[in-house]
Amino acid sequence: MNILVLNSGSSSLKAALIDTVSGNTRLELSLERMLDQPIIKCKGTSFNLVLEGRKKLLEKALDHLKGQCSDHEIHGLGHRVVHGGEAFSQPILIEDEVEKTISDLAKLAPLHNPLNLLGIQVAKAAFPSMPHIAVFDTAFHCTLPKRARTYALPKELAERHGIRRYGFHGTSHAYVAELAAQHLGQDLRQLNIITCHLGNGCSMAAIEYGRSVETSMGMTPLEGLVMGTRSGDIDPGILIYLKDRADLTLSGLDDLLNKQSGLKGLSGISNDMRDIIEKASEGDEDCRLAMQVFAHRVRKYIGAYAATMGGVDAIVFTGGIGENSAVIRHRIAQRLDFMGALINEDKNTDVELSHENPVADFAMNHSRVRLLAVKTNEQLSIAQQSAKLIAEENKVNTLPPIPVAISARHMHITQETLEELFGKGYQLTEKKPLSQPGQFAANETVNIVGPKNTIERVRILGPVRSKNQIEISRTDEFFLGIDAPIRESGKVVNSPGCVVVGPKGKVTLNEGVICAWRHIHMTPEDAALFQVKDRDIVEIKIENGERSLTFGNVLIRVSPKYKLEMHIDTDEGNAAEIGRNAMGALVLTSKEAHLKSRRI
Ligand code: ADP
Repeated sequence: MNILVLNSGSSSLKAALIDTVSGNTRLELSLERMLDQPIIKCKGTSFNLVLEGRKKLLEKALDHLKGQCSDHEIHGLGHRVVHGGEAFSQPILIEDEVEKTISDLAKLAPLHNPLNLLGIQVAKAAFPSMPHIAVFDTAFHCTLPKRARTYALPKELAERHGIRRYGFHGTSHAYVAELAAQHLGQDLRQLNIITCHLGNGCSMAAIEYGRSVETSMGMTPLEGLVMGTRSGDIDPGILIYLKDRADLTLSGLDDLLNKQSGLKGLSGISNDMRDIIEKASEGDEDCRLAMQVFAHRVRKYIGAYAATMGGVDAIVFTGGIGENSAVIRHRIAQRLDFMGALINEDKNTDVELSHENPVADFAMNHSRVRLLAVKTNEQLSIAQQSAKLIAEENKVNTLPPIPVAISARHMHITQETLEELFGKGYQLTEKKPLSQPGQFAANETVNIVGPKNTIERVRILGPVRSKNQIEISRTDEFFLGIDAPIRESGKVVNSPGCVVVGPKGKVTLNEGVICAWRHIHMTPEDAALFQVKDRDIVEIKIENGERSLTFGNVLIRVSPKYKLEMHIDTDEGNAAEIGRNAMGALVLTSKEAHLKSRRI
């Protein structure tokens, strides 16, 4: 498919016609300096426009683009939208209701969303018969757990104003993480990756088994790393202090933090890392400090994110600085031996990324953690996401419904642990079969002891397994006093342990307590029918009387041994008021998923 990708920003419009299969850019146009000397650049030529209203300039640019595009078939347009708030967790076809929501979200991104929206409106008028897709910078971070997305502010105030951490650069973080996983020959959902997008804007993400669980930008793109002109993290008390001492107005503070700080403020000369590196090598102390503060902040976050995920398999560097600067990569990645990341200085210096070779590994061969430089391509990613959605929108949902079952807390047990708890040679006895073939609820129960409380009579599910695993709900976690991660069954590394008490003994488990990731069991035949594969993540819509609920982030598990069934835990079942015989439907199109239903 050929998708025209548009990025309508504060002073420029960037457009690219991209072939989503080859990844090639067929045509590029930019409208720059919209605020002082508007100029259009296209196909190696450029010409100036008369300075007039933003809308008129955009119309002229798109008109020109249309003329240039006539040789190519266009299948749709993909628009970059900065803020999707809580409403959009994936790309969406832009209908009137979507435009209105993007417009409402201007309160969270006043500098970006209105300009993105204007670009959409002008493009819709220029290409009225085409599908227009919005792809959001925030969407990839919609999986941030509450603990990571919540600011310690009064709850009511935060809720009223939508104050929480959203994260940005999501398209880039997701894209480079996927390329990194492909390069490592592994499924992204088997890896813990830290991605560092170091461009003019800078942010990092902790991507645990394919989901963003932490990111450095927050409610706005101002939080986190030192950037070209943005300060990143500062003590918020400084603002209060400065307001009085430096007589700064709110717009003065805004200008200070967004435009005069970061590398520009520290160095006093430039927001461009290339200039700073050059001056630093000539002896400029301010530039030296700018480099140090920049790299120090990234290192600090790497340590924090490794701790957040309980380990890391790869650290990815991208963006103009991350892709091109061996010096900065060196400053960030040296002395990470303690966490198993060993930089190979020669390989780091030799990194040269291109469209054909977008990934370079610059770790020592024996480094446990891989260090990767990856060329990001947000335009291609937006084009691919748009093309996928356009293909999906054309499908009709004739798929069978999926039975939904609520799974109560339970334990999977090893034979060894069983014998410690119930006596030598003990065998599980079947109380009743479970819907998954071969599985049964046993007569045997155990008591689970946490630091705070004990839950009695937790049922063991048979047959015995190779690892102990206790699956509890969020409510159970707080009752027991255990902080369990959301995991798919079988993934117990770095999970907390607990004490398990049986009639003949007690066992202290070092790991094994998880909160099960909502999932669907299915056979390979079902998977072919639903056109999904093992470990895909889907959305399921459950019609429940008056209300419909869409469960995002549902994991697909495929095995010939399974029977088609979606499993959610008791908390989720209660929240959704789901009773027996509930049925879910696989959500195929973004229209089905959004705006018409409440999302969980
Ligand atoms: P944006 O965030 O606007 O997309 P980029 O990702 O293109 O920006 O990054 C631009 C920044 O990358 C420049 O401001 C510059 O600081 C930095 N950069 C580009 N090439 C190099 C290089 N060879 N060495 C150091 N920094 C570089």
